[in-house]
Amino acid sequence: MVKDLDILAIAAHRDDVEQTCGGTLLKAAQRGQRTGILDLTQGEMGTRGTAEDRAREAADAAKNLGVSWRRALDIPDGRVENTWENRLKVASVIRETRPRVVILPYWKGRHPDHYTTSVLGYEACFLAGLGKLALSSQPSAISPQAPADASGLRAGRPQESRQDAGATILTPHRPFKIIYATLYYDVRPTFVVDVTEQFEGKFASIMAYKSQFSDQDAGKDIFPAHDEIRTRLEAMARYYGMLGGVTYAEPFLQKEVGLVDDLLAIPVKSI
Ligand SMILES: [Zn+2]
Repeated sequence: MVKDLDILAIAAHRDDVEQTCGGTLLKAAQRGQRTGILDLTQGEMGTRGTAEDRAREAADAAKNLGVSWRRALDIPDGRVENTWENRLKVASVIRETRPRVVILPYWKGRHPDHYTTSVLGYEACFLAGLGKLALSSQPSAISPQAPADASGLRAGRPQESRQDAGATILTPHRPFKIIYATLYYDVRPTFVVDVTEQFEGKFASIMAYKSQFSDQDAGKDIFPAHDEIRTRLEAMARYYGMLGGVTYAEPFLQKEVGLVDDLLAIPVKSI
């Protein structure tokens, strides 16, 4: 059995979570919360490196972020589609990991995989809670070599599922909260998370993707150089930090309104 997660971040590609909410996940892990990452694809379409390279790098990045659980599904890279089959795959993971909070990408963006993951993830969270929908933990719904296994990260379920030939019936579960990581899109967040103390750890987790981000010839015109990546990440983190009155922050959006109990405890200065 996978121990229930507090927070599960879902994204299309390995390294998306690191970039959009890596600091937030690291901060949660430092508080003792159990965090997990579900990547929908394995990165086989990337200009640089292979899916195997990326699996290794994803496991390293997960260690940097103190993540307890990570898995990549087998949805084709560059072809994330909101189909019934894909929704069931994600819903199975929701039931298996039982997160209280799910982080999804924002529902608009340049890359179709990103915005499709947003809607697909939301609908999967809904499906996962339907009492009459039977879902079993199927080995076919996970990557054959789940990176979390290879890295020695705690990911009990994949082995277990293989042993019992996918017969485990999963009990319904719906996360309490769904929030959207907005870093990839120019939209005003409804809140930011202070990651000033976690910024270096976040940067290290992104740099774990050596096949993508180390300086090299392949794809030189589309990938920025190492120093440039650092500068851009810092600029973004500083901008959102400024909105929250801190040094570095990551932006999020929630669809619900905020609930306040004590006016004197509301953070972020107005004037
Ligand atoms: Zn991506």
